[in-house]
Amino acid sequence: MAKTTYHGSCYCKAVRYSAEIDFETTPTGRCNCTSCRKRRWWSAQIVPEDFHLEAGEDHVLKIKTGGGSLLHLCPSCGVLVFSTMDKQDWNDGPRVSISVSSLDDLDVETLLAAPTVYYDGLHDNWWNAPDEVRHL
Ligand SMILES: [Zn+2]
Repeated sequence: MAKTTYHGSCYCKAVRYSAEIDFETTPTGRCNCTSCRKRRWWSAQIVPEDFHLEAGEDHVLKIKTGGGSLLHLCPSCGVLVFSTMDKQDWNDGPRVSISVSSLDDLDVETLLAAPTVYYDGLHDNWWNAPDEVRHL
């Protein structure tokens, strides 16, 4: 399957983007670290070239995390739309981690068919799945 262009936004639509993603080969990710668990963060990581911020560049609130990610949050409606990760040791290069929940035109069947990886961030064991994932 080739990449499909999806469109995403926050709840109030002040922040909008498009992204090219192949959900057959791009896994979605869920993590049990405190930050991800409290936000119920479900992500897909893509290369920056496949991400296009179309609105909200000056509106979005950027929050730096301890792990080096830069969260991009709409200050009007509170939706965390995406984060950027520049750390080289996370991946083989910079990534944009989009919230799959912010995608407006992703059908549920495609999302459920996409592979999901789980990260045990709570125990600083990021590259292995935690023993329990049902709550993520
Ligand atoms: Zn908003």
